[in-house]
Amino acid sequence: MVKVAEEWLNSCSGCEIAILNIGDALVDLLPSLEFVHIPVLIDKKYYGQTGEGKHLEIPKAVVGIVSGGVKNSEHLEVLHKMRESCDILIALGTCATDGGLPALANMYTNDEIREFSYHDSPTTVDKGVRPNPDKFHIPHMLEHCTALDEHVKVDIKIPGCPPHPEWIAGAVLALLDGKTEFKLPERSVCDVCPTKRERKKSDTGVLKRMLETPEYDPEKPVSDMRCLLEQGFMCLGPVTRAGCGGMQARTPRCISARVPCRGCYGPVRESALPLIDYVSALASVGYDPAKMPDRRGFLARFSGGHGVLKKI
Ligand code: SF4
Ligand code: SF4
Ligand code: SF4
Repeated sequence: MVKVAEEWLNSCSGCEIAILNIGDALVDLLPSLEFVHIPVLIDKKYYGQTGEGKHLEIPKAVVGIVSGGVKNSEHLEVLHKMRESCDILIALGTCATDGGLPALANMYTNDEIREFSYHDSPTTVDKGVRPNPDKFHIPHMLEHCTALDEHVKVDIKIPGCPPHPEWIAGAVLALLDGKTEFKLPERSVCDVCPTKRERKKSDTGVLKRMLETPEYDPEKPVSDMRCLLEQGFMCLGPVTRAGCGGMQARTPRCISARVPCRGCYGPVRESALPLIDYVSALASVGYDPAKMPDRRGFLARFSGGHGVLKKI
C-alpha cells in the first residue's frame, strides 16, 4: 500500500477532476493506494480539525501530488510542507510545471491585480464601497506567480491544462513499479497532428482571429483538414509539448475539435524558447510575425513562470 498526499495551491481543481477521470483504471489502482491527505475530497484542516494545532500538518506519504502554482504565502508554506512530508513530489498540471494561466498575472503589479479584481473587473458591481483587501486576514500575495520547481525539488512533472488522465495513471503505475522517473516525450503537438501540410500560407495571407471558423469538411476526418497555421490561425502546435491525446499520441484535443492549439501543455522542453521558435514557425509558412497581436501573453499564456513573463 503506497501512501499518497495531494494538495492544490492556486488550482482551479481541473487537475483533480483529471485524477478522477482516470476512470476504471483508478478503481484498479485504488487497492494499492492510500490517500492520507487530499483536501479536495477529504475534510482536513491544516492546524488540527478544530484549529488547535500550532504548526501546519500534512501526514507523511511516499507520493505527493501538487496542482496549481505559487502566488501567495499560504501556497508557499503548503508546498514546502508537502516537499518535507513526501518522498516523491509530482507537479500536476501546467500551473504547477510552468506557472499556467495564473502566471499571466506576472505582467502586472499586485496593486494592479487587486484594483482590477476588487473594483474594475467588468463583473464587479461598483457600489461605491472600496474594500481594502489588506485589512482582511488573507495570505499575502507574493511578487510573482511561480512554478513549483522555482521553490522546491520536483521529481516528476505532468503538464497539461488539465493533464490527460492516462499520464497521471502512467506516472502512478511507474512509481508502483519501483521506477522513480517518468517523463512525457519531448515532441510537439505538430509531431502528432494529422492535418495536411502544404508548407505555404493561405490564399488570403491574413492572420485570423481564433474565433473564426477554419475551412474543413465536417463529414471528413481531421486528416483531411489543412493545417490551421497554414490557414492563418495562430495555432501553437509547433511550440507546445504533445501529450493531450494521451499516451497513445491520439489526435491533439483541440485539433480534433477543429480548433487551434493554445499551448496548454507548455513548452516542448524546458530549455525551449517559444517566442523565437514561434516567430520562425510563422515565417516558415510566410506570415509576418510582426502582425502577431499580444505576443508575450499569447505565447506564454500557460507558461509565464520561470521569469518568462515580467511586468509590462
Ligand atoms: S493546470 Fe489547468 S486544470 Fe490544472 S489547476 Fe491549472 S488551470 Fe486548472
Ligand atoms: S500548426 Fe496546428 S494544425 Fe498545423 S500541424 Fe501544428 S498542431 Fe496541427
Ligand atoms: S491542442 Fe494544445 S491547447 Fe488543445 S489540449 Fe492539446 S496542448 Fe492543449
